[in-house]
Amino acid sequence: MTSARTRTRLVARLREQGIDDERVLAVMRETPRHLFIEEALASRAYEDTALPIGLGQTISQPYIVARMTQALLAGREALPLRVLEIGTGSGYQSAVLAPLVGQVYSVERIERLSLRARERLAALGLRNVHLKHADGSIGWPGCGPYDGILVTAAAERLPPALPEQLATGGRLVAPLGPAGGVQELLIVERKAIGYETHSLGAVVFVPLLAGVQP
Ligand code: SAH
Repeated sequence: MTSARTRTRLVARLREQGIDDERVLAVMRETPRHLFIEEALASRAYEDTALPIGLGQTISQPYIVARMTQALLAGREALPLRVLEIGTGSGYQSAVLAPLVGQVYSVERIERLSLRARERLAALGLRNVHLKHADGSIGWPGCGPYDGILVTAAAERLPPALPEQLATGGRLVAPLGPAGGVQELLIVERKAIGYETHSLGAVVFVPLLAGVQP
């Protein structure tokens, strides 16, 4: 089956699972996820499952990518949003965000993953994605404030620098909870005064780790 047809089936499954933002569904239909994983696994690229990307890391399940992207965009119309992602991994989540927002800034602590992601995103001509090899626990201070922050690795507690880099009205989506266990996907919205938090339910992510790695 062609990847375009398997992607159409993936989108039908996402719809059944409650993804209803047509902008998100359209981008998921267009984005070639098979280019973000090792060739040996490419035949499984459009299964709704996380897959290994080397160095002990995974590309997130498509449903989770769609869910987080939908949460970030909810109630917002085609604005030139600035979005920060912590945990570039394969670069797939960045590729999904790129056509939907103004600028994507993505930080990865493993240099080899960041370099590979850079090649893939360049090959797709996605020039509004900016990558940095660094510990994302401190965000990407120079480029904020952000209208949205997606954290794609789980922390026990939210690093305080992240909500601080949100613009007023900005929204952070992050899995919080124990490494190796089940976490809760939280949305934290920055109000004129303080923050408002609610939960999107249980998820499983690889852990947010301190420091950098080659
Ligand atoms: N968004 C990715 C999936 C990422 S898996 C994708 O679409 O493929 C989580 C990633 O977070 C891993 O690559 C891991 O190395 C990275 N990570 C973990 N802790 C981090 C930290 N403190 N700063 C930046 N990246 C981190």
